[in-house]
Amino acid sequence: MREYFKLTFFHLSHLIKSVLRKKSMQFTSSGISIYENKEVALLTQHAKEKVIVPVLNLALACRVKHVTGYDTDRLGTFTRDILRQDTQIEAARQKARIGMKLSGLSLGIASEGSFGADPFTGMLPWNVEMLTWIDDKHDIEIVAMSQGESNLAHILTNSWEEIELFAQQAGFPEHYLVVRPESENDTRILKGISDWDALKEAFVWAHNESQNNLIFVETDMRAHANPKRMQNIRLAAEELAKKISSTCPACNAPGYWIVEHLTGLPCQACGTATHEIRAEVYGCCKCMHRVTLERSGSTYANPGLCEYCNP
Ligand SMILES: [Zn+2]
Ligand SMILES: [Zn+2]
Repeated sequence: MREYFKLTFFHLSHLIKSVLRKKSMQFTSSGISIYENKEVALLTQHAKEKVIVPVLNLALACRVKHVTGYDTDRLGTFTRDILRQDTQIEAARQKARIGMKLSGLSLGIASEGSFGADPFTGMLPWNVEMLTWIDDKHDIEIVAMSQGESNLAHILTNSWEEIELFAQQAGFPEHYLVVRPESENDTRILKGISDWDALKEAFVWAHNESQNNLIFVETDMRAHANPKRMQNIRLAAEELAKKISSTCPACNAPGYWIVEHLTGLPCQACGTATHEIRAEVYGCCKCMHRVTLERSGSTYANPGLCEYCNP
């Protein structure tokens, strides 16, 4: 009996020691973050550093370094002159990798935006911003996203009055415009138009160039040309900072965050499981640690959302 206890105690203490050893091998929890004073490469040419750098430096005490020397438009533009070949996240990864290579750093960050219709009604112009954080030393990637309404719009017309109205509705001149003669894919293009005089000049130029008398005007969606989008990038950076600051309770790795939403919140009237979220699963991006947290505040779903009560 005594031998048995000795053995289990030995095994238990051995197990605890090995867990602790693993823990200290990978990450330590001293200081603000494991990225304190670490240099991070940020490749961008559209002034995204203005919103990304202050957010991450403040939250993580790291030193985000603005890397230049590569034309990121080569990976795709919003004006269709160069089409993006990869998915949004893959394009962000590619930029981060190029920035890391150019700077020789093992930490990199990059962002990539996309535009389309909103996922709820399909009627509003929508912007999704993705940010990726790549840490080669610890073999970690952390991705954050922010989405919201955008001012994405275009007009094909020969009327200055219509263009004037379009510009006002698009938030011009704070939000820049792009002008082309004839059609949306014409290669003659003026980007970054940022004041009324320049817009009028562009109108006259496009009108003279145009064979069909039409002028194509659209919103300039590059980050420095679009404060609405810039704000979304800032929100994505804040989300990323939160994710990186959240460390795994088991191994201390950064990026401990929601990996799954569990539905099935019971209906308040009949108790049937609904499609409403009842819990979130938090997971580590490095070890297998997972914790399910029931959502506080809502224990039952509104019967209006129940397929049995409200089919
Ligand atoms: Zn019900
Ligand atoms: Zn972990």
